[in-house]
Amino acid sequence: MNIRYRPNILAMQGYEPGEQPQPGKFIKLNTNENPYPGSWAVNRAIQTAAESGLARYPDPTATAFRECASGILDVPPEWILCGNGSDDILTIATRTFVGTAKTFRMPTPSYSLYKTLANIQGANIDEVVFNPNWTLPGEFVDRDEDLRLAVIANPNSPSGTMIPPEDVLQIAEQLACPLLVDEAYVDFANVSCLQLVKQNEKILISRTLSKSYALAGLRFGFVVAQPQVIRQLAKVKDSYNCDTISIAAATAAIADQTWLQTNRQRVVDSRNRFSAELEQLGFVVTPSQANFVWCNHPQVEARRLFAQLRNARILVRYMNYDGWGDGLRISVGTDAQLDACLDQFRILLPK
Ligand SMILES: *Cc1c(COP(=O)(O)O)cnc(C)c1O
Repeated sequence: MNIRYRPNILAMQGYEPGEQPQPGKFIKLNTNENPYPGSWAVNRAIQTAAESGLARYPDPTATAFRECASGILDVPPEWILCGNGSDDILTIATRTFVGTAKTFRMPTPSYSLYKTLANIQGANIDEVVFNPNWTLPGEFVDRDEDLRLAVIANPNSPSGTMIPPEDVLQIAEQLACPLLVDEAYVDFANVSCLQLVKQNEKILISRTLSKSYALAGLRFGFVVAQPQVIRQLAKVKDSYNCDTISIAAATAAIADQTWLQTNRQRVVDSRNRFSAELEQLGFVVTPSQANFVWCNHPQVEARRLFAQLRNARILVRYMNYDGWGDGLRISVGTDAQLDACLDQFRILLPK
């Protein structure tokens, strides 16, 4: 007897995460992780949580985190829902809004997980190509009977560019469906759309502790939206989607805003210096508001530069978007790591 898989699952490609090589073998600039260790308060919180034991189920709604985050983000705790990484938040939102044969709208090039989540639902994917200057074309707000959810990553990956909050608000007002603003990289930017949730119930903001809090290995993210929206999302999440350890660690992490600001400034300074040096080497670099830069060299194919860097044990992300083009997305590592990358480029590039 044949196993009958859902046809959309058989037809889809699974999400392909960036390579995670054996630790220490590569300078790893391919998945936008933070190159620095997280706050010490996080380690202490993990230790304390572990010592109290794990025999009990965790708090299903991560109350401690939401109460702490509430003060820092200036939104009530009832406006926050936590997830096992913000990928979990994206899954919950997709499952809440987008049914089979309904439409999920997303820009391209952007975070490819959105497409994977739409495919799992058996949804229609409406990809809207960014303008060459990384603004969104007017068709992003077009009416469509079946449209159920739109998403933007802001800052966007791989470009590192941002749609300003006033434009995001306008997009949300014109759209006939909720707009999920994925702010995975927003702590490295100058502005955020967070407070827009107070003006429009169709706006949902997702955040993660993976990048700016140096906790990609922990798995913790959250979404901010009006409480009537949060109540619907809450029905869809796994009952215990965040564990005791991660709730304790995430609470300690967000409480340490001094660590965040220091780390953020360090990464932003390195990013700006790295971008300038890449330009010196002839790269075309998109101005970034995130912890990575998107670049291309007019004389050497990105694919070749990727392969040559890899031989030199430097791992960056080669991105190739069907019918659009390709490029290198390089995460902002430590200054020493970025210098090693620049040194390789100096060797590889034609004089
Ligand atoms: C890294 C990333 C995420 C996922 O973050 P996790 O919290 O680690 O799941 C979400 N959106 C974008 C655009 C990202 O780059």
